[in-house]
Amino acid sequence: MKRRSSELRAALSAIDRQHLRRTRRDVERFPDPANRTLLHLQGRDVIDFSSNDYLGLAHHPELVEAMAACAARCGAGSGAAHLITGHGIEHAHLEEELAAYTGRERALLFSTGYMANLALLSTLSGRHESVILDRLSHASLIDGALLSGARLRRFAHNDSGAAAQLLANSRHPVAILATEGVFSMDGDLAPLPELARLAHEYDAWLVVDDAHGLGVLGASGRGSLEHWSLESDAVPVLMGTLGKAFGAFGAFVAGCADLIELLLQRARPYIYTTALPQAVAAAARTALRIAQRESWRRERVLALAGLFRRSALQAGLQTGEALTPIQPLLLPDERSALAAQARLFDAGFAVAAIRPPTVPVGRSRLRITLSAAHTEEQVHALVGALADTLS
Ligand SMILES: *Cc1c(COP(=O)(O)O)cnc(C)c1O
Repeated sequence: MKRRSSELRAALSAIDRQHLRRTRRDVERFPDPANRTLLHLQGRDVIDFSSNDYLGLAHHPELVEAMAACAARCGAGSGAAHLITGHGIEHAHLEEELAAYTGRERALLFSTGYMANLALLSTLSGRHESVILDRLSHASLIDGALLSGARLRRFAHNDSGAAAQLLANSRHPVAILATEGVFSMDGDLAPLPELARLAHEYDAWLVVDDAHGLGVLGASGRGSLEHWSLESDAVPVLMGTLGKAFGAFGAFVAGCADLIELLLQRARPYIYTTALPQAVAAAARTALRIAQRESWRRERVLALAGLFRRSALQAGLQTGEALTPIQPLLLPDERSALAAQARLFDAGFAVAAIRPPTVPVGRSRLRITLSAAHTEEQVHALVGALADTLS
């Protein structure tokens, strides 16, 4: 084992040399139990500008109550996989509600978005086919393509012309063209109308991972597709998560009945795993209702994102292009991103330094995210601290 152990140490010191060591900090408590933007960690209270709780639902009392009440009825765990006895009435209702919310025939729940993407890509593509992805696609889309055994090709970020060339020149039939609706680290929007046209022309599945668009974009919060006024025929495969804007946990794929049935029959990340607890599904159902009922949450997070961008610009800081809750501030390298993160923590803010391989080499950054639970004062205070830190 000696050689193996020294390999571990060598791998870890290589990570350190590149300033790529990742560390976790324990959130010890939430000083305001109804609002997760305030965290107590490493001995102090800080304002969190790094979560994906865009609508401020993660600590909503109605979600917490729904979860507790369901756990009292159904227990803490589901006990089995969906196809055995783990699938409960809360799951069934949530799937129906998600299908209705997204305007699709059916929806299928997954424990995580990561697994949903593995399931989608490995079911809809295989060897002797190609998968074409935006270069900045989430790791789970890439891993799904690798799992499928298909040829993976990636096009320059949001460049539909480059995607068209890959489609035209592919030696294998293209099974899937996939992208994120809103990019998780840049907050910009994929050119979905052009990608939909291309997928249609080449008879490929267009898969849109709308982890960061659902609940936030579009006139009624139905995400990137609503933002672009795209019907479900244009984007036949929609993936969404329940742990971000919806403040709960889990994920889903929505599409036509045959697509969902085939995933249920074939997708190993669906079949061979324990169903998520029904209590989690109950919380997600409540979130879905609140998100539709309280459209002010969506309007508010976008207004705060706009406020952040305007004041950052006035302070001489260059932020994201698009008006979404994800606002990146690019920094010269990994070290300066880490240093900025540390200085902001000292100033009372939790802001994440994002480094490779989450983002490409040379694109390290602070990823600032807004939530409907933030106040204007908190946003102004953050911009002040950023200006002090980065100037
Ligand atoms: C977060 C995320 C996922 C994974 O979802 P989880 O439910 O957290 O596993 C997939 N795709 C994108 C674009 C994401 O940002």
